[in-house]
Amino acid sequence: MEAKKKSICSFSGKCGGCQWIDIPYEEQLKRKQAMLAKLLKPYVKPDPIIGMEHPFHYRNKVHAVFGMSRKGPVSGIYKAGTHEIVPVVSCMIENEKADAIIATIRGLLRSFKIKNYNEDSGYGLLRHVLIRVGHNSGEIMVVLVLASPILPSKNNFVKALRKEHPEITTVVINVNDRRTSMVLGDKEQVIYGKGYITDTLCGKTFRISSKSFYQVNSVQTETLYRKALEFAELTGKETVLDAYCGTGTIGILASEKAGRVIGVELNKDAVRDAVLNAKTNHADNVQFYRQDAGKFMVQMAEQDVKVDLVLMDPPRSGSDETFLTSLARLAPEKVVYVSCNPLTLARDLEYLTKHGYCAVKAVGIDMFAMTEELEVVVMLSRK
Ligand code: SAH
Repeated sequence: MEAKKKSICSFSGKCGGCQWIDIPYEEQLKRKQAMLAKLLKPYVKPDPIIGMEHPFHYRNKVHAVFGMSRKGPVSGIYKAGTHEIVPVVSCMIENEKADAIIATIRGLLRSFKIKNYNEDSGYGLLRHVLIRVGHNSGEIMVVLVLASPILPSKNNFVKALRKEHPEITTVVINVNDRRTSMVLGDKEQVIYGKGYITDTLCGKTFRISSKSFYQVNSVQTETLYRKALEFAELTGKETVLDAYCGTGTIGILASEKAGRVIGVELNKDAVRDAVLNAKTNHADNVQFYRQDAGKFMVQMAEQDVKVDLVLMDPPRSGSDETFLTSLARLAPEKVVYVSCNPLTLARDLEYLTKHGYCAVKAVGIDMFAMTEELEVVVMLSRK
């Protein structure tokens, strides 16, 4: 029997994050294209997938869990679907600086007498480290997720950390004192810098805080947003609804070519960032609302607001019945659907194509190289 070939990643067997790490990149793209073409076959033929030029180290958001194993303190990532921590010290898709910062933190813990949190006993302090890197700005945020609010000699800790990594622009303590698998808790304290980072995408500046959503692959995000705007075919007069808008990125980019943009988003930190982002970028024709996108759509439909284009970018679970029925009632000329899950996209297209729309164009964008995940943009037009 042929021996199993060694993986190019020494952690892949245990980690399971990159299911396709040992498949040549061209082949990965072919598979994704074939999968997408099959899923979208009843609706539209997708254009050729847009791959990455450098498909490694693209993740600008890096998370490490700190905990205890039978052998002592350990940090790394949760093994897929479990609470077992795999001691990953370098990752082929994560930002390399972020990995180096996590390694430095690991090395500082002993001298600062900081104990890893123990999930079983509830004893210990450090639970997670989250790093966000501004791809174009170079700004870096370090979030230390602690089980209780006090970090011993926090100023010296920051000093020691920044001595190794002067590119760190802000450090935040997040307190998560609940027995939960959620990474971040509610309370935060900024211990260095301004508490958020900024980055530029397609020439605009965006503010990113610990909790707000920001696409993890900055290079491909620019490609994605350009495609979404190209599919939107705005002329300068339209009323645009940016649903599931996060920090308002797509809507703010669209606002240059639209009459008016309305954004809706559930996460309050993201909405706060969106409002500030509109201000920074002098996008005066954009308004943001914090609400469930589905409920917001119902109100829009009831009030007979005229919308020309709906841009939607729902989470993995896709949109919901409430949203889609109101969308059909609102009847915009065009819908640009950005999806990070082709399965729920196909489900939602099934509904929309039965309720007044046809899918005109679609394209896959490879935001998650080495994994099975795929981002897709679809343009639908009223029949
Ligand atoms: N368009 C943005 C964000 C896309 S991610 C960008 O490109 O950055 C999906 C967003 O939907 C997240 O910000 C999430 O907080 C938000 N969201 C999830 N469920 C929602 C709901 N029911 N109503 C409104 N927003 C929701």
